Formats: sequence, C-alpha cells, structure tokens
Amino acid sequence: MKASRMLIATLKEVPNDAVIPSHILLIRSGMIKKMSAGIYNYLPLGLRTLRKVENIIREEMDKAGAEEILCSCLQPKELWEASGRWYKYGSELMRIKDRHDRDFCLAPTAEEVFTDLTSVLVKSYKQLPVIPYQIQTKYRDEFRPRFGLMRSREFIMKDAYSFDVDTEGLDKSYDLMYKTYEKIFDRFHLNYKIVLADSGAIGGNGSHQFMALSSTGESDIIYCDCGYAADAEKAESKAEVAEKEEMLSLEEVHTPNFKTIEEVANFLNIDVKKTVKAVAYRDLEHNKTVICFVRGDRDVNEIKVINELGVSEELIRMATPEEIAEIGTVDGFMGPIGLKEENVLIDIEVTNMYNFVVGANKKDYHIKNANFNRDFKGKILDLRLAKESDLCPICGKPMKLERGIEVGQVFKLQTKYSEAMGCTYLDKNGQTVPMVMGCYGIGVTRTMSAIIEQYHDEFGIKWPLNVAPYHVVIVPAKYTDPAQQELADKIHDMLNDTKVEVILDDRDASLGFKMKDFELIGIPYIMIVGRRAAEGIVELKDRMTNEKVEMPYEEAIKKIVEAVENI
Ligand SMILES: [Zn+2]
Repeated sequence: MKASRMLIATLKEVPNDAVIPSHILLIRSGMIKKMSAGIYNYLPLGLRTLRKVENIIREEMDKAGAEEILCSCLQPKELWEASGRWYKYGSELMRIKDRHDRDFCLAPTAEEVFTDLTSVLVKSYKQLPVIPYQIQTKYRDEFRPRFGLMRSREFIMKDAYSFDVDTEGLDKSYDLMYKTYEKIFDRFHLNYKIVLADSGAIGGNGSHQFMALSSTGESDIIYCDCGYAADAEKAESKAEVAEKEEMLSLEEVHTPNFKTIEEVANFLNIDVKKTVKAVAYRDLEHNKTVICFVRGDRDVNEIKVINELGVSEELIRMATPEEIAEIGTVDGFMGPIGLKEENVLIDIEVTNMYNFVVGANKKDYHIKNANFNRDFKGKILDLRLAKESDLCPICGKPMKLERGIEVGQVFKLQTKYSEAMGCTYLDKNGQTVPMVMGCYGIGVTRTMSAIIEQYHDEFGIKWPLNVAPYHVVIVPAKYTDPAQQELADKIHDMLNDTKVEVILDDRDASLGFKMKDFELIGIPYIMIVGRRAAEGIVELKDRMTNEKVEMPYEEAIKKIVEAVENI
C-alpha cells in the first residue's frame, strides 16, 4: 500500500473532549473520527485493527465450539416485554417507533433475541449444549458519553449465550468460556485481572469480569495477594470485631446542628468507629423506605442494597426528608432504635460493636451506648463498601486497590430468561424443562482502547503486531532520490509477496514528518531507507522498544517475515 493513496488523517492537536490516552490517540492517529457525542466512524486504519481484534475473538470462540450468528440490532418491544426488561432497562435503552407506531429498540445486548431463537431452533436435550454468539454493534444511550470508544453510545460487542440441560452443564460451558476469554486476552497481550463481579438479582458467585489494568479505568478492583479479587461493587471484606465492653445504659445527648457523623463524633470526642451512620433509600418499585446502618467510617454499597431489595437500579434513589419522616424518624438524626424492622438493614459489622452512638430519631439528638440485639434488631447483611486496606474476606490480610477497564464479563444467567420466555426442551422422559443459560460478553471496541491504554508512549500508539493496522512501513528519507526509491520499491514488492502487511511512504514530505505520522499510528516496524540505500543498508525501528538498528535490507525483511509468521 502506498501512503500517498491512503486516507491518513493524523492530527497534531489533542481534541477538546479527549482526556485519556486511548481517546486522544485514536483520534490523533486518524483511526476513528467523531460524528456525534459518543458516536464514531472508523477510518481505514482503525477498521483494520478492529477487524483483527474481532478475528482473534472469533478464532478462539470457534475453537471452543461456539457458533457465530448475526442478529439484527433492531429488536421489537414484544421480546423485551416478554423478559420484563422493556421498562426495567431504563433510559439507556434506545427506543424507537416505526411508521406504524410499533415500538423497537436498538439492542444494548441480546439475551432476548438469542433466547427466543434458541427456543425455536432447539427442541430436544439431544441438541444441547449450544453456544451461539455474534459480533455486532450495540447501542446504549449513555447519559454522558466519554473517553472515546470506552464509553460510547454505539459500540461493538461480542456476545455469546450458552444453553444447557442443567446447572452442571452451565458450569461446564461457563468454565469453557472463562478459559477461552483467558486465551483471547492473552493474545491481546493485555495485563488483566479476573475478578468476582456482582451478579445482581441472580446472586451467587456466578459472574467474573476481565479487567485490563489501567489508571484510566472506571472500575475499582479490590484484591489480595492470596488471589481474592473482586469488582468494588461486589467486593467483600472481613467485618472488624470491636473489643468487648460491658454494655452501658442508653443515654440521650443533645447534638444541635451536627449533620454528619464525623461532626457528632468530634463533638462527643469519640472515635468515629464508635458511631453508626444511616443512609436512607427509597425503593420506587415497592414504595418503601429503608434505612441502612453501617459503622460511622464506612460507606454503604448501593449495589448490595439493590440486590437485597431485588429492585432495578433505575428504581432506587435517596429518600427525601418527607419519606424519612413517614417511617418515624428525622433526616440527619436517623437511628435504628424504635424503627420497624422492615425498614432497617444492618451491616453485619454493627453487630460486632459495643456502646456506640446512633441517631435518636428526634431532631438535634443522638443516643449513646446503643447495642445491637439489646436495643434494636433488623435484617443483618453485608452492606459495606469494601475499600483499599480493608481485610481480605479469605485470608484476613489488608487488601489492595487497582483500577481497571472492564473488557469482558461472563455470567451465569441460570433460567432467568428461559423461564420468562419459554425457552424449553424435552428431556429424556419427555418432560418440558427450561434451558439453563449463561452469557458472555467482550467489548470489542473497548478492548481496542484498553490495548492502547497499555501500549503507548509520548509519540503515539505501540500496537502489538497481531492487532496493528499494518505490520511495517517503509519510510524513504527522500523518495525522489533514485537509489532510495529503487530500494524502497524493491522491499515493498518483496514484502507484498509474503504475509506481511506493508505500507510504502512515498509521500513528498520530510523524514521527520513521515516518522511522526507512523509513530503516532503505531506501526510495529518502521524501515528507514536513507543515505546508505545504495549499499542495501536500511535502519529498522522497533516501535515497541523504540530501538533503531542498521542492517542489510534482506536481514530486515527476514526478521519481519519471521515475526509475522510467529504471530
Ligand atoms: Zn487474601
């Protein structure tokens, strides 16, 4: 390929709305171009890399025995009503109407379609298990699209769904996909961690996320050297146990104008660990107000509350002072004593505390020396948000924190969709049984971004060879120089006869200009044909290490051909 014929769209300037390296570099290297907020067009170089990323995923999925299909992005409302998600999915679902006033959505995911299809295609246990998958564009109406392909409104996802006869079968399919994902992310040369993820209303340890480590990631990963690792939403920590004390009598204290638990602790001159703080939520699905109690220095993990209430994320919010008053307490002075048990959720750590301070459910008052069981009861569960240096739930050592980009997730759906949508099979005895499902996603375009986050420097992208848009670019210092032109053309033609994907930069521009372009784009090998062209000597730059070595052109060709053959 001649550079003079290519749509090279490199930019010197950093786009205004770009803050993270992958977003800046995808735009600056001319791989993608923004069309509207969170919507991008893929230019030739970007598309080449995208296709390679897709093909690696496709190869490994196919090897695992999964089978590719392609579903429409346009999905009818009826399917989403059958699963109960048309309303529950909330405002991220892009809903549209056709000319006959029929409702559709642009698919953010495809559980409904795959479940519906499989229910028609599979009738008997003899046909199971199956793992159909697709690589398709998805839509999510992000409130604030940002970070380029990382959080866009249109993106490409690989989504797979396994259908098994029973949960044992599901465990096997899940395990197979888990291992396949390891192979896929290894092939992308990503530094990643596999973490336990929240599996929402379905519960259990039925989900893992594949997180590419990056300081620009939007997910917190809490992990321990013993191997425990979880997404912050899911992470647990060992509950601390306070030193045992003799229980003292309750005592009401006047705490005017102190709104936060820290202010109250300060005023009473006690450790904030001797207080219990309250956070009130309104469950809009069940029209109910619940107050969550955690130790004063802790935070409530909202996902744990959502899972406990069995409500969708869209249908929960902070309770208003009026809603708080309705259940017999006062905003800012909420405490568990005297409240109805049905309105109270208590973090398990609170049950390990003695003589602590709680709100008095009365304006300007708190109560000292509260003790669980003696003074109040309520539903006990793990409600705390786990943080860095909290103790590991497995081994008890302090945990660490890293940030990650969620590039993949595997999930045991069980029979959630198959039951709702009548996706059943006939077992050996002729009984109708719901299929047991799993789902497995990889953010294809997000993976592209994650690779850049891990492979770049101040000059641009450093694509690993197997996902680079081209393997090598030949850059003559001055293409109009006859000796340089002759050698450059010769190398180009020789490489063109191999598997190596090659660009010849025949543009009438300075060497520095041309080098800058291809360093920014991140072509793994840059072969400079310069003043020693007549001797057949070239300079080969390895973009990953930025090392430049002079060598005979035959040697450079051999090196590149070998590297490409060993991808
Ligand atoms: Zn541990």
